Amino acid sequence: MEFCDECGSMMKADDGTWECGSCGYTKPKGNTEQYTVTDDQEASEVIESSGETSLPETDALCPECGNDRAHWYMQQIRSADESETRFFICTECEHKWREDDN
Ligand SMILES: [Zn+2]
Ligand SMILES: [Zn+2]
Repeated sequence: MEFCDECGSMMKADDGTWECGSCGYTKPKGNTEQYTVTDDQEASEVIESSGETSLPETDALCPECGNDRAHWYMQQIRSADESETRFFICTECEHKWREDDN
């Protein structure tokens, strides 16, 4: 049984997807976890390519869960004229954020 992320109504199964009877919201069936981490794909790729969470750790306050430890890495974004930005990944909840976001 699935409930709609949007309105909380019960969803009905349709080929490969869940469909909300109330608002029409759909989401893929099966391993939903795989679909909720797409935003973190860059981060997990970095982790995977560098072996088991071998990223350096530092003191950083996670805005998501309040944990004070995070892995970090540098990544250049957009164009070459922008300096590298530091990204943090929470060691607890794996939330990812940019250093200059706040
Ligand atoms: Zn709905
Ligand atoms: Zn966290």
